[in-house]
Amino acid sequence: MQKPTDPKEEKTLLIIKPDGVKRGLIGDIVGRIEKRGLKIIALEMTQATRAQVDDHYPKDSAWIKRLGEKSLKTYQEHGMNAKAEIGTDDPDEIGKMVRSWLLDFLTSGPIVKIVIKGIRAVDMVRKIAGQTMPTLAEMGTIRGDFSVDDAAAANRGQRAVHNIVHASETPEEAVHEIQFWFAPEEIHDYKRAEEDIMF
Ligand code: ADP
Ligand code: MG
Repeated sequence: MQKPTDPKEEKTLLIIKPDGVKRGLIGDIVGRIEKRGLKIIALEMTQATRAQVDDHYPKDSAWIKRLGEKSLKTYQEHGMNAKAEIGTDDPDEIGKMVRSWLLDFLTSGPIVKIVIKGIRAVDMVRKIAGQTMPTLAEMGTIRGDFSVDDAAAANRGQRAVHNIVHASETPEEAVHEIQFWFAPEEIHDYKRAEEDIMF
């Protein structure tokens, strides 16, 4: 029988997007992760290519449609006419458009890619990051404390929402993203001093 995976071994990928890097938030973001008791096991600044970001974000039609539907909903909520704003109200088309804005954004400056390990690392890091839309993100989260963007403003400017970080959404997604951004020898392990006390 296969041994269940040790909960302390769960890993996730966090990317500090160009807005976070340019605003000098690297230290604060890393500090929040470390203080929570999660372990940084790989960290590197890189200028991503468009092809890399294209491979990082899902390409399947369901993901693209979801992105488009979210944007369409925002237009409707704000009484904006999607067709007038960006020339289409088709969720697939809008999804493709938002995805390409995302590629522009993620390549607009260096990013910091980080692998984090710890109990429920994926959910914990999503929680520390806060909701996708900064205007909805809770205070005390990275997005809630440091950003104020929303989809209506972003889409009017034909750009992606500037929300400081990317964080893997599921442990499976994390496995793919970590493998994509790091070679095995670039991921490290060590014991943190408080491990015996905390868990
Ligand atoms: P998250 O980053 O919280 O996992 P998603 O996976 O839904 O969010 O979207 C990926 C990224 O695309 C977001 O972080 C954000 O930068 C951008 N984004 C999402 N929805 C929109 C939108 N409606 N308009 C512009 N950009 C968006
Ligand atoms: Mg996502």
